[in-house]
Amino acid sequence: MPTAHCNHMNRRGFFRIAGVATAVGLLSTSSVGHLAFAAALSKAQRDKLTPDDIIAMMRKGNERFRRGEESPHNYLEQQEVSAKGQYPAAVILSCIDSRAPAETIMDLGIGDCFNARVAGNIANEDILGSMEFACKLAGAKVVLVMGHTACGAIKGAIDNAELGNLTGLLAKIKPAVQSTTYAGERSAKNYSFVDAVARKNVELTVADIRKNSPVLAELETKGAIKITGAMYSLETGALEFFG
Ligand SMILES: [Zn+2]
Repeated sequence: MPTAHCNHMNRRGFFRIAGVATAVGLLSTSSVGHLAFAAALSKAQRDKLTPDDIIAMMRKGNERFRRGEESPHNYLEQQEVSAKGQYPAAVILSCIDSRAPAETIMDLGIGDCFNARVAGNIANEDILGSMEFACKLAGAKVVLVMGHTACGAIKGAIDNAELGNLTGLLAKIKPAVQSTTYAGERSAKNYSFVDAVARKNVELTVADIRKNSPVLAELETKGAIKITGAMYSLETGALEFFG
């Protein structure tokens, strides 16, 4: 039902928020031969955005998600448009938790962001390499480390859980357990403590990225990118940005 109204509604949420949805640059010819709004970021559109613009859009996207007013994504169109090239605005580092899918909870579509997922959203050399590719070579302008409440990896690190390769992964989270200042019960059964450690883990991961990736640190110093963190609440659906 490709009416003009539907095409209008298929605009990506990013641009509805950016207020540039009527720009001629957003028009493209779809594969079925009618004019449609582009379904994925073009290079020009992405390059116009500042890191703060992109963070504001992510914030707005989470607000739409929480209101149940997500953009009516046309995933097939996004897939078709982005197949010719990708110009994502951000690279996200988030946990594998099935309840914390970053794109969904920020109302993002295909081609909008890179997303590296690993239990406990920790950074290692491979993750840093992926982020350097995303920002230095592919032009992403935001590095967002997203932790979440009631994280099983954080609980495992607190409990000193041991299992195959998981043991080594949890060891990377333990500095956050140790450096979390907390007056109450420091156990995995205390969700308030678990969430405090998850928050500290995001802060330490952001610091690690700056320290261990001179490539990203230089881009941030120049103002080309912003590296920041956020905590997602499984209970409320709210994403709290640190900066
Ligand atoms: Zn998790």
